[in-house]
Amino acid sequence: MLKMSGFVIVTSIASGFFASSAFAGACDVNVEATAAMAFNVKEIAVPKTCKEITLNLKNTGTMAKAVMGHNVVISKTSDMQAVITDGISAGLASNYVKPKDARVVGHTAVIGGGESTSVKIKLANVKAADSYSFYCSFPGHGSVMKGVFKLV
Ligand code: ZN
Repeated sequence: MLKMSGFVIVTSIASGFFASSAFAGACDVNVEATAAMAFNVKEIAVPKTCKEITLNLKNTGTMAKAVMGHNVVISKTSDMQAVITDGISAGLASNYVKPKDARVVGHTAVIGGGESTSVKIKLANVKAADSYSFYCSFPGHGSVMKGVFKLV
């Protein structure tokens, strides 16, 4: 009984923390990528009032970035496949994104297990009416590591 009530208290403190941090940074986006080749979120919904987001990516795996590296790339869903194909040609040194790819709204670096990275992405050209996706452009990952990016 004691253990149970302790658990409840810890849980409510944790959810209170997340609620207040979400309020403090409505334009901050936190994404985790795992060794199981998955993101912890299926959708990133950003308030329309955000002119810019801070995208924080954490790789919770343990493998090196050349083996199981992850990034987050945002583009129109219709451009996703071509962005990934060109990104593979560009290689790891370019974070699997073609340099100055105009189709890319923004992207993080590719990071390995235990690493974190952060990037500011301007949303001036993102239209609420268009369909956008976020995905990992590491070779072979985009088919499963993807989700919806939208303004709400
Ligand atoms: Zn990945």
